[in-house]
Amino acid sequence: VSLTESPPGVQLHELRVRDGYASLGAPFVEQREPTPLPEPYPVAFNPAAAALLGLQPGEAARPEFCLLAAGNARFRGAAPTAAVYAGHQFGTYVSQLGDGRAITLGEIENDAGERWEWQLKGSGRTAFSRFGDGRAVLRSTIREYLCSEAMYGLEIPTTRALAIAGSAEPVFREQPETAAVLSRLAPSHVRFGTFEYFHYAGEPERVKTLADYVLTRFFAELQGPERYAEFLRTVVERTAELIARWQAAGFQHGVMNTDNMSILGLTLDYGPFGFMETYDPAWICNHSDESGRYAFERQPGIGLWNCKALANALSSLVAEPEIEAALAAYEPAYRKHVLALMRAKFGLAVAHPGDPELIAACLDLLAKERADYPTFFRDLAASDERAGSRLADLAAWRTWGERYAARLALETRDEAARRAAMLRANPKYVLRNHLAQRAIEAAEAGAYEEIERLRRLLAAPFDEHPGFDDDARPAPPGTPAVDVSCSS
Ligand code: AMP
Ligand code: MG
Repeated sequence: VSLTESPPGVQLHELRVRDGYASLGAPFVEQREPTPLPEPYPVAFNPAAAALLGLQPGEAARPEFCLLAAGNARFRGAAPTAAVYAGHQFGTYVSQLGDGRAITLGEIENDAGERWEWQLKGSGRTAFSRFGDGRAVLRSTIREYLCSEAMYGLEIPTTRALAIAGSAEPVFREQPETAAVLSRLAPSHVRFGTFEYFHYAGEPERVKTLADYVLTRFFAELQGPERYAEFLRTVVERTAELIARWQAAGFQHGVMNTDNMSILGLTLDYGPFGFMETYDPAWICNHSDESGRYAFERQPGIGLWNCKALANALSSLVAEPEIEAALAAYEPAYRKHVLALMRAKFGLAVAHPGDPELIAACLDLLAKERADYPTFFRDLAASDERAGSRLADLAAWRTWGERYAARLALETRDEAARRAAMLRANPKYVLRNHLAQRAIEAAEAGAYEEIERLRRLLAAPFDEHPGFDDDARPAPPGTPAVDVSCSS
């Protein structure tokens, strides 16, 4: 090994930039230059996401990187674009949405031939901005940055976060804040609402153009006359699996409008999300969601509702009986995945017909106890006594514990193997609101280390990380509650 060997990956100027979705042209995308961010500075950089591009991590230190991430520079040979879409927002169809504050710089192709859209969020107005200013505030970019990496650490499909560029530029929300631009990566940012836009505009030929693009790029295995029906069915199944993963992790998206639903089954558009702490199935994390349409326990049903909206938008390509068949796949797929994930949390490797009731009984108990969801399961992985030690109704816990012990007797794994597996299924660390808030307040005061510290912790949430136990606990008593809403 030579000491002068170059680090893995390429330099910024060597990135291979391709014209992907942008090649569809108008009206799918509008060519739009980002609005430069005044005097930008680096706030966060994620080497794990840079590796997806095949970019050397040291390249983030270049001024050119910050200029790209701020929207003050662009790649030669690729036109930045904003995409049009529509969507059902809180159940009501809105015919004109789109990337109102997002601009895709281009698609980066890595050495493995994988392509990642490099999309800026908060990069200024576009044709789809409506009344918005096209900007994002520092607070919301930090939340999306940390949460998408936390989700990745939890093995939940998601867009990835590459970097944040900050600026003193004022942005007005409920109070004056400052602007920041998030760089995020995904193979595609196409949404259910992208299909809805062309369907409800009465342009079935463009629905087909869009479907053909998505199928060719991401569902190439689907060929033949039934391919659109198979595509719908695959998206339905992926969506069901995604939401099963959210439920098991205790993740609430907060704004499950069809314009925030990824056609690839990724978690997309982090806003007023939350991770379940005090267990409450009726929990509503988004303060703008007055009716609780997107409450935690409603997410699986809303996932199906959204798939129906997508199916409608594909009705020029897929006949009614095939639509019905595709949608019928949702519930069994959801049940299968959520049950497998919950079994893993309880350390059950063998499937048993009584498991759903056993699991539901424990969750009922957690709800009555208002127990901390991640702590309970992490404790249960360590020892049954420890899990019970924080509960008040010990008689109820003992009753359930006897059922659980009887059930564990049907397992074939030994206890050590079971507990090790449970520690891989129950994270010690999730992005609790107060952790994000602490990183935000430090960043608003000009200190960015906490973002990187949390990112590293959340990237490996199943590991112990000795010395960081405080980050695994609920907020200390007296910590002011953080209200999260759609305004960001
Ligand atoms: P969201 O609730 O963040 O998913 O956004 C819904 C729609 O509003 C999308 O079309 C966004 O692009 C748009 N939007 C949100 N915030 C802004 C903003 N500050 N400026 C322009 N458009 C925005
Ligand atoms: Mg959105």
